Order: sequence, then C-alpha cells, then structure tokens
Amino acid sequence: QAKQTGRNGMRFFDQKMQDSISSRARLEEALRHAILEHQFELYYQVQVNGTGQPIGAEALIRWRLADRSFMAPDSFIPVAEETGLIVPIGQWVIDTACAQLRQWRNEPGMAHLVMAVNVSAAQFHQRDFCEQVRAALERHGIDPALLKLELTEGMLLENIEETINIMQQLRHLGVRFSLDDFGTGYSSLQYLKRLPLSQLKIDRSFVRDLASDSSDQAIVLTIIAISRSLGLDVIAEGVETAEQAALLEQSGCHRYQGYLYGRPLPADQFRLSLAKCAGVEERLAVQVQ
Ligand code: C2E
Ligand code: MG
Ligand code: MG
Ligand code: MG
Repeated sequence: QAKQTGRNGMRFFDQKMQDSISSRARLEEALRHAILEHQFELYYQVQVNGTGQPIGAEALIRWRLADRSFMAPDSFIPVAEETGLIVPIGQWVIDTACAQLRQWRNEPGMAHLVMAVNVSAAQFHQRDFCEQVRAALERHGIDPALLKLELTEGMLLENIEETINIMQQLRHLGVRFSLDDFGTGYSSLQYLKRLPLSQLKIDRSFVRDLASDSSDQAIVLTIIAISRSLGLDVIAEGVETAEQAALLEQSGCHRYQGYLYGRPLPADQFRLSLAKCAGVEERLAVQVQ
C-alpha cells in the first residue's frame, strides 16, 4: 500500500501519522496495564547542603518493562498526562513517597530528609488533590513539613487563582512547594510573588555549561537574586562537577542535586549510599580527634 504513495507524498505522511497515533494508543494501553500490574518504582536522588550533607531526596518514577529495562519518565509522563492516567499514577507516587518517609523515620540519619515529589498539572487540578495528599500523609503518619511538591511554571499559570487556592490549602497543612525547572517557563515576578512557594529549583540547562557560558552565569545569579528578594530558598539540579558546585556556591546557591552527589537509586541502595557517606564522616571525625 505504501507503494501507492502519490507524487505529493501525502500517503507517506498519513502513514507516519497513523504510526504515531497507534504507537501512542499502544503506549496508553501499556500504561493501563502497568498500573494494574504495579510496574512502577520510585528511585530517590539525594539533595545536599553546602557542606555536602543530605537534606532531602527527589522521588523519580521508573517504569520497569517486562524485559527488566526501564522506560524513562520523559517518554511516558507526557502520554500519561494527555490520557489522564497521570492521576492514578501520581496518586501512587505520593502514597509510595509517604510510605518511604515513614521507613526513613526509623533509619539513623534519615528521619530529617525532606521528600520532593513531582506533580503534574492534571493531577494538581483534580478536585480532591489536596484531600488525597492529606490522606496519604495521615495514612503513613508523616509530618507534612517533610513533603515538598515540585510544580512547574507552566502548570501554575494555567489558572492562577485556582492554583493559589490549592497551594494555600496544602501550605496550610504544612506541605511546601518548589518551582521545578525554574527559568525555562514564563512566570512573571508578579505571579511568583503571589504563590506560596518555598523554593526555586534552577533548571539543569543553566548548570550544564556554567563554567564556560557567561550568560548562564548571569541567569543563575539572577535566579538566586529573585529567590532572595522573594524570601525563598534555592537549589540547583543537574550538578555534575565540583567546578559547577563551586560556581553555584560563590553565586549564593547552597543546595544541590546531581550526579556529583548521587544518581537516582532504588530505596535500599539509597539508604546504603547515605550510610556509607555517614560512615566516612564518622571515620574522618575519629581521625581528627
Ligand atoms: P525533573 O523533575 O526535572 O527531574 C530531574 C531529572 O534530571 C531526572 O530525570 C534526574 O534523573 C535527572 N538528573 C539528576 N541529576 C542529574 C545530573 O547531574 N545530570 C543529568 N544529565 N541529569 C540529572 P528523570 O528521572 O529521567 O525524570 C525526568 C522528568 O520526568 C523529571 O524531571 C520530571 O519532570 C518527570 N518525572 C519524574 N518522576 C515523576 C513523577 O513521579 N511524577 C511526575 N508527574 N513527573 C515525574
Ligand atoms: Mg523535579
Ligand atoms: Mg527539575
Ligand atoms: Mg528538569
């Protein structure tokens, strides 16, 4: 049939569109299956302060396929968002993150860790989102101050009044908010100052070439200045080198996340990696004495 393609190539175009639609439909079907079969896992990536001590973790979803490989979230979250499947998936993420916080409460050196959880627009704007979060915190007996929801600029501007309302309800419970991928969206300062945020997260696209790109340096300085003037803290994502960390530190950013400190890890490996760094510190302390 493809041979019948007209001179204008229309048939070929149609075929490609058809393929992309059916693969989307296949992906949607596979996602439904994944929800029923519990094929999702959460990985945790450490966040550290200026002295390299762990202060929190970001929960990052992984979809384990039948062949044991993973599908990256960037490949399925958009489809989950378009189909509304992000709602049950996101609910599972919040519940699982709270269950994990409950476990950390009993682990030496982990009870203070703040869990950052990514939230999609469709999930955030569900009628009972706030109630879901409250129920998950209560079910697992979690201090709401240990939960930080990561929102993106785009989703906040969709319906600013409703957004502020939902954020305020959650803020009232004690839950905090970080603005993810900051600098890649269009938020005006006018909007930003109305949102009950506690943190800006510098997008990793500004961190990557920080050592060589003077406009990235200027952008990072500006984001840090904005966070100061709004009374927010600031964290950088995608920190891979000591040089990037030093530049961020000099610029006034004292919280970091990135491969330099640790890759996203399954819960048990995450715990071991923290225990190892704590062990190193203890041994150093003993040597100093
Ligand atoms: P994000 O929230 O901006 O997460 C940071 C991404 O950067 C993660 O990719 C992380 O693995 C990666 N990363 C961390 N440190 C470094 C580094 O030093 N270098 C580089 N090159 N990358 C680094 P990941 O896990 O593939 O997630 C991609 C995106 O998928 C996330 O971006 C977030 O937008 C979305 N996502 C992940 N988990 C969830 C979830 O549970 N719910 C929702 N709604 N979205 C999620
Ligand atoms: Mg994030
Ligand atoms: Mg991010
Ligand atoms: Mg990002």
